Amino acid sequence: MTYTTHSAEETQKIAAEFAATLKGGEFISLIGDLGAGKTTFVRGLVEALGGTVRVKSPTFTVMNEYPVDAGAIKRVVHIDFYRFTDATELEALSLDDERRPDTVILAEWPNVLDGNLVVPDVTIILEHRTMDERLITIT
Ligand code: ADP
Ligand code: MG
Repeated sequence: MTYTTHSAEETQKIAAEFAATLKGGEFISLIGDLGAGKTTFVRGLVEALGGTVRVKSPTFTVMNEYPVDAGAIKRVVHIDFYRFTDATELEALSLDDERRPDTVILAEWPNVLDGNLVVPDVTIILEHRTMDERLITIT
């Protein structure tokens, strides 16, 4: 599915529509350059699932979690692997422990996981077209 958006709000609306398709337990990859709108997408998704804390880039922490309340989904885990270089840090994260039926995980720059046996359930590609135009592909 491909969408074109012309503002952060529109991207959040697409994220909200996508959020409605989630059941819990999904691992979602977010692919796109810096400023493409990955964090904006997560913000819209968390809001749509009833989260009340504003999503911020987990720049220093790698991972943030947000309580939500959408049926079986009680938690969104947001990971940003930007600046992530050390594979041993990955073990410290223990992604397997985070993967639960009540949790949706979204990971920015998940290419760092290549070869680490995390297969995304959904991949979302965000392409920066013009100043405010983004092409969003959900597969
Ligand atoms: P990333 O996490 O991919 O680095 P962010 O979501 O942090 O990107 O930043 C995207 C920036 O682009 C924000 O400042 C946002 O307001 C802006 N922006 C402009 N148009 C759009 C759009 N159509 N979709 C998403 N973000 C947009
Ligand atoms: Mg980001």
